[in-house]
Amino acid sequence: MPGPEAYDATPFVPEGARIGELREAAAGCEGCPLFRDATQTVFGRGRLSARVVLLGEQPGDQEDRQGEPFVGPAGKLLRRACAEASIDPDDTYVTNAVKHFKFELQEERGKRRIHKPPTLRELSACHPWLTAELHLVKPELVVALGATAGKALYGSGFRVTQERGSVLDPPDGLEADAVVATIHPSAVLRAGDNRDEVYAGLVADLRVAAGALG
Ligand code: SF4
Repeated sequence: MPGPEAYDATPFVPEGARIGELREAAAGCEGCPLFRDATQTVFGRGRLSARVVLLGEQPGDQEDRQGEPFVGPAGKLLRRACAEASIDPDDTYVTNAVKHFKFELQEERGKRRIHKPPTLRELSACHPWLTAELHLVKPELVVALGATAGKALYGSGFRVTQERGSVLDPPDGLEADAVVATIHPSAVLRAGDNRDEVYAGLVADLRVAAGALG
């Protein structure tokens, strides 16, 4: 099997697999170098019958430790925003464009693990897992949470500031009827004094997503 320098998860993705088999196989993925420093693979979670897939960037510190997506502060905020926008958070499938936590250790901050955005190469390497997940869920809508999730779907030219809050045609090969982009919920947590305003923007975009479901 090719090593992580190949930057491609394809050889690790079993064909025709059910979700449990995919999750198990993803735990051993070495499709790019990110598996080396992370604690574990954080695969998607949720209902296969979900009409909505919520797509984030990558696991954060707590997700990496717990092995579950969106279990940290950003995930809690996202659940609240979804509920306010009339999207039942328990009736979604949540996952990330990249399944391993990418970080750098900052000595001056007590060796805290500080999130680093994945590169386009890492996004592309991990894409076969997302394709396999979407093939099983076949959602009506993918909500791309943040610029990196948007780039994972549409490529490097995607600008979330321009595309957010409208119903987009899915890119070629994406097994979903439509895409709505918005900010990542962690942007609300970082917004300081503007937090209420940024949160309201997230909810407004999610209402567009809810409306697209009909
Ligand atoms: Fe595999 Fe994705 Fe992890 Fe890279 S980030 S090792 S491609 S699961």
